[in-house]
Amino acid sequence: FVLADRRGGVIEFDEQNRRLFTLLASQVAIGLQNAQMERSLGALSRLEEELRHQAHHDALTGLANRTLMYTVLARHGEEGRSVMLIDLDDFKTINDSLGHAAGDEVLVLVADRLRSEVHGSDLVVRLGGDEFAVVLHGDPLGQRARHAARAIEIAIAAPMRVAGRDVEIGCSIGIAVGAGDLAPTALIRNADVAMYAAKHDGKGRHVVFEPGMDDAARERLQIISGLRSAVGRAQLSLVYQPIVELASGATVAVEALVRWEHDELGPLSPDRFIPLAEQSGLIVGIGRWILEHACAEVAALTGTHAGRQLELHVNVSPRQIADPGFGALVEHVIDSVGFDPARLVLEVTEQTALSKSETVVANVEQLRAIGVRLALDDFGTGYSSVAAAHRFPINLIKIDQLFIRTLDDGSDSSLVRAILAMADSLGLASVAEGIETAAQMEVLVRLGCPYGQGYLFARPSTMAALVATWAAIAATHDAAMVSG
Ligand code: C2E
Ligand code: MG
Ligand code: MG
Repeated sequence: FVLADRRGGVIEFDEQNRRLFTLLASQVAIGLQNAQMERSLGALSRLEEELRHQAHHDALTGLANRTLMYTVLARHGEEGRSVMLIDLDDFKTINDSLGHAAGDEVLVLVADRLRSEVHGSDLVVRLGGDEFAVVLHGDPLGQRARHAARAIEIAIAAPMRVAGRDVEIGCSIGIAVGAGDLAPTALIRNADVAMYAAKHDGKGRHVVFEPGMDDAARERLQIISGLRSAVGRAQLSLVYQPIVELASGATVAVEALVRWEHDELGPLSPDRFIPLAEQSGLIVGIGRWILEHACAEVAALTGTHAGRQLELHVNVSPRQIADPGFGALVEHVIDSVGFDPARLVLEVTEQTALSKSETVVANVEQLRAIGVRLALDDFGTGYSSVAAAHRFPINLIKIDQLFIRTLDDGSDSSLVRAILAMADSLGLASVAEGIETAAQMEVLVRLGCPYGQGYLFARPSTMAALVATWAAIAATHDAAMVSG
């Protein structure tokens, strides 16, 4: 405070004035303090509100989050509700090819489309990553959820303009219905089981949970959790199946095939656990073990077949080649075992061959630079085998057993003939898979197929058993030479 006489003269304030001014000053001070306090209280409650909002909402899309979903599910339930879990198909591809900013844009657009497809009273949730959910109240039979699922599928499938490109994305939806007696966690788990079934059925669809689905899901979890420790507990092993030159019958290569003895489920076929290892990402570690083990076992072989050292075929899943370190891993394994890279053939799937991922392309370049060859496995079973064979730098194709089976009893062989002609024109060698009968082999020889593999020649067996068989064959051969 500045106190002055307005007329500018110098006057003295007496004691009474001074007391009055002091009083005034302290009144003003209190007033100021109160105002300040009110402002900060207001700010505090706004902050509190914001924090509460943040704790219950997803920052990127503004949708409700998992916490809020559980709160809402716990609160209402008597009237029957349904939960829809929505997972975007192949979102990772968008993230990998267009970058994370574009991925975020897609998620925001998906959130908007979800909002506009449901009632205002329904809760739209982002669970994290590319997973969303919708809670629909007053839906005891799941009718509204089914209806909404169809609308959502169509809405999400419409092209989006992202990063200057038209992007299309599908989704898989799992629906579970339940009243208040079903705990929120159980409801969500059921929806998750249904969503997995939708993905498994070929994506881009919705599935409503039914009781029996649990069993398959439980077994899937059991297999995945077992896989986590399978390598460490030495439960995996490799068997090898010879690949022969059809004209001479000489073994030219072996294909490594993985085997797993599960504690409770017993021996499991790779068709049952490789897809799960692939989905869970565990294939990266398992695949590394397979590659190391197979290279070491084949490198340790002495002796030759028809004057040549055996080649080794190893199956490689799409996820392995999509791993940034894959090229370096193969190089490292080859170096540390002292294996000749020219003897290694990696069998890839059509999915890998059609991939546009830069990581896959870089890995393949690195593999070719060190002299490792590639084969396209199960040729003819996918939708775009021919395109894959054209586009991808492969050295040979493996004709799926599906086609070989048709070669019995002189039935039409024109399809196999066409495949062989195509391979020939692309300069690719062909291996016929799953030859079981002499009749099949004869047709293949007649059609000029150079290589084959199948139970007719040998079943997959341990390296020790194969070596013993070869030794026995060599011994009879030698004996024949001596007696002859
Ligand atoms: P694939 O690579 O096409 O392997 C050929 C499959 O056909 C093997 O089944 C083999 O045992 C079977 N087979 C061979 N000859 C015959 C025959 O004459 N008749 C019949 N009916 N079948 C025959 P397996 O070992 O059960 O492997 C199944 C699939 O699992 C493989 O198909 C491959 O895609 C995958 N797989 C196996 N081992 C590995 C691995 O180490 N890594 C990866 N990523 N996948 C693997
Ligand atoms: Mg194979
Ligand atoms: Mg195959």
